[in-house]
Amino acid sequence: MPSDAHCHPFDLAHKKADAEAMRLALNLSVAASSWNEDEFIYHEALAEQAVKTGGPPIALCFGVHPQLPSSEPGAVQFSLNALYRFAAGGKLAAIGEIGFDLFDEAYKATETIQERLFKEQIGLARQYNLPVVLHVRKAMDKVFSYLRELTALPAVVFHSYAGTYEEALALRKRGVAAYFSFGSPIMLNHRKAMRACALLPQEVLLFETDAPYQSQRGKPFSDYGDLCQVVKWAARLRSEAGTIAHTEQELHATNDENFSRVYFHTSV
Ligand SMILES: [Zn+2]
Repeated sequence: MPSDAHCHPFDLAHKKADAEAMRLALNLSVAASSWNEDEFIYHEALAEQAVKTGGPPIALCFGVHPQLPSSEPGAVQFSLNALYRFAAGGKLAAIGEIGFDLFDEAYKATETIQERLFKEQIGLARQYNLPVVLHVRKAMDKVFSYLRELTALPAVVFHSYAGTYEEALALRKRGVAAYFSFGSPIMLNHRKAMRACALLPQEVLLFETDAPYQSQRGKPFSDYGDLCQVVKWAARLRSEAGTIAHTEQELHATNDENFSRVYFHTSV
């Protein structure tokens, strides 16, 4: 079954009422990201339903998003408290999305808080032996300053990877169990992401929709149906670069396998 390595089912359901029906029709497993309890409770209900019915599974992810100190400062402590509870309750497949967003001045103003939250959350991931899902904008140097901590984690997923091919290889070489997830930016002329997606070994690749937040050109939001488009583009980029594993079929298979390994600790 196909897999979406990073998305927001609760937020998508508010834009598209039949999103869940679409997911089931596609037989799509997803890693569902949330930062507040309402989202998490919705995702948890979907996950329980999947177990009951044998439907495509949901990997529950929760983390204090790096934009939160800027967008909703009052919610940060609530989000962090909820994370501690969910992690202690054994509910999580991963902690995330967490990381650094230094994209503009408003986000940069919260850099110190982002740093404190990141440290605390990767410490928690270590404590519970959980993977992390990273949101990193204009901050790869920050990530490299945490190499020692990151090598201790079972997996580190770079959601919507925007670093270079060389940085990705360097992370693996330094012992980080890093995975690089690609979404619609590879269809939107994001050169670094396109090159990394074209050249990286298949063992570290993942694909995502980030639904509803990464729309293709001309569409108001992304949805689950975009996953196949992303994989199709990745196949084209890899084929043009002459990279091994470049058919859509191969990329879906490798994506599913990496998804299961990262979020469910199993191979398909
Ligand atoms: Zn996201």
